[in-house]
Amino acid sequence: MSQTDPANTQPSLSFEFFPPRDEDGMAKLLDGAITKLAAFNPDYCSVTYGAGGSTRQGTQDLVQAMLATKIQAVPHLSIGGSSDAALYQLVEYYQEIGVTKILCLRGDQPSGDASKPAYAKDLVERLQQRYPKQFELAVAAYPEVHPDASCATDDLAHFAAKVNAGANSAITQYFYNPEAYGYFIDRCAQAGLSIPITPGIMPITNIDALQRFSAKAGADIPRWLAKSMSSYANDDKGLIAFGVEVVTKLCERLLELGAPGLHFYTLNRWGASSQLCRNLGFLER
Ligand code: FAD
Repeated sequence: MSQTDPANTQPSLSFEFFPPRDEDGMAKLLDGAITKLAAFNPDYCSVTYGAGGSTRQGTQDLVQAMLATKIQAVPHLSIGGSSDAALYQLVEYYQEIGVTKILCLRGDQPSGDASKPAYAKDLVERLQQRYPKQFELAVAAYPEVHPDASCATDDLAHFAAKVNAGANSAITQYFYNPEAYGYFIDRCAQAGLSIPITPGIMPITNIDALQRFSAKAGADIPRWLAKSMSSYANDDKGLIAFGVEVVTKLCERLLELGAPGLHFYTLNRWGASSQLCRNLGFLER
């Protein structure tokens, strides 16, 4: 089952950034990675939201700075750590500055507070009820199954609940096994879920960091890939060139499987992501 809209054959392109710690970091990010990657004319750039709302101000600042340079900015939002009033205040701030799409996530639960929504679905439901049709709401999807889920069937049912609550699109956790994505979108189609599900792509640039993130996120690094990466343990340039080759092939396969676009986890860097975009035929301004 293809996710591609036959009327629009150009895959969508988006990049994810995290808010820098200080003004200096913000200036460097805006002049560096964001400027370089904006040259590919992405559909949007998303901005992460630290667990428990820890980057609330930084996320707002980066979203605002992107919009000021005419980049469509998509804030991530999670419910953990904020009161309802603070949550709605943030959403209304985003509405005022021109945000039209929000990525809704679960985030961390404040311990002992059972009155707070426990899942991303609750955030989607709340935003759809309070701001009907005012935002496009995206959610996360897990072709390799979310690490907290008891099994793939339950995880799919929970994903379906987010879609039925009003999510309009999804972005996946990254993975290096394209067939996991193919299988996932087939199961979504069988379950009657027709929203676009864009694969999240993690460039390979640092072995230790990738292994750490992957263990936490439940992203599988196949044995052949782990063993191949270890050949470049002392060769950063070689690793990046190898990573670009592997991830280009992964993206090509995902597009063949019908992916509606690609969402790059940039980690605030531009080198590997821009080379991947070039290899995949995205044009630079
Ligand atoms: P949910 O969809 O709520 O699911 C979480 C788990 O609960 C799953 O295992 C699901 O199966 C299960 N579940 C759902 N509903 C029920 C139910 N009714 N009963 C029992 N179990 C249920 N984290 C950040 O902190 N900041 C970010 O900016 C950020 N951005 C991300 C962007 C993308 C594209 C992705 C894929 C992940 C991102 N994350 C981010 C990580 C995310 O917060 C974690 O993966 C988190 O653990 C789950 O969030 P979720 O929104 O997918 O949760």
